[in-house]
Amino acid sequence: MRILSALLLLVAIQPAILAADPAPIKVLIIDGQNNHNWQQTTPILKKILEDTKHFTVEVATSPPRLSLPVKPKNADDADEKKYKETVAELEKAHKAAFEKFRPELAKYDVIVSNYNGEPWGKELNADFDKLLGEGKIGFVVVHAANNAFGGWKEYNQMIGMGWRGNSGGDRLYLDAEGKEVKVPSGKGDGSGHRYVGPFTITIRDSEHPITKGMPKEWLHVRDELYDNMRGPIENVKVLATAYSDKEKKGTGAHEPMIWTVSYGKGRVFHTPMGHDANAMRCWGFAGTLTRGTEWAATGKVTIALPEAFPNAEKTSPIPEK
Ligand SMILES: [Zn+2]
Repeated sequence: MRILSALLLLVAIQPAILAADPAPIKVLIIDGQNNHNWQQTTPILKKILEDTKHFTVEVATSPPRLSLPVKPKNADDADEKKYKETVAELEKAHKAAFEKFRPELAKYDVIVSNYNGEPWGKELNADFDKLLGEGKIGFVVVHAANNAFGGWKEYNQMIGMGWRGNSGGDRLYLDAEGKEVKVPSGKGDGSGHRYVGPFTITIRDSEHPITKGMPKEWLHVRDELYDNMRGPIENVKVLATAYSDKEKKGTGAHEPMIWTVSYGKGRVFHTPMGHDANAMRCWGFAGTLTRGTEWAATGKVTIALPEAFPNAEKTSPIPEK
């Protein structure tokens, strides 16, 4: 009898064991400064990730940019002195607050950057570089995050290429035959978004876990089509491009739109898509972000493509509610 009840118990708990979900992937989104509306877009990124049930998401918000009071007009010497003291105090407090901004990156599996602002403190840079290089965390770069930290050499290596002047590194594009072409630093234009509107994403690697199963071509909603990305372009794998049409003021080249970077043992997933809330409310963007984030964290993709994934003819916006 005892054996029977033990057996029954086993039978009862077995399905629960089989159905147990893997531990959710721990994501940290970093924001707080951006020339884009991060207050609006971070909650969208968070929701897209959480809706898959594969992630838990926390947000680390940096101190805001320092804003200084306006210098008084017709100031006498005393006013001038007082103003200078006030500025010095504010700058000191800001510096101290910024140096204290050091989220505990090691607690997470993957960091998503929605940050484009002043340099982080040296310690945070060092944490980030070390943990990513050792493969302890993955990194996800979204849109203007690739504008940040032009003077941080390792960051440029992590992102592969980003929004830089024409001397900010090489440029990579695909020609009409789909062949990769590199333009050396200093030659050609600097980064821009010569075309803004809906555009077609062309998958260049259908075997990679992130892009596997995506239609060869799919129509992305209105977004900025980043062009002339620049950087060291080491260990970069281009998974998808978008044609920047010359007739629509574009570059006439196939610009990288989804790529990965190996940084030491760390995995980086990078998309220049996602200018604003509208650009993120696209099932194509969502499917790319969720799978890219899973891949950066684990090296695998188990998340299915959204059912409403766009195709070559039609965009597929995510309803606001
Ligand atoms: Zn933008």
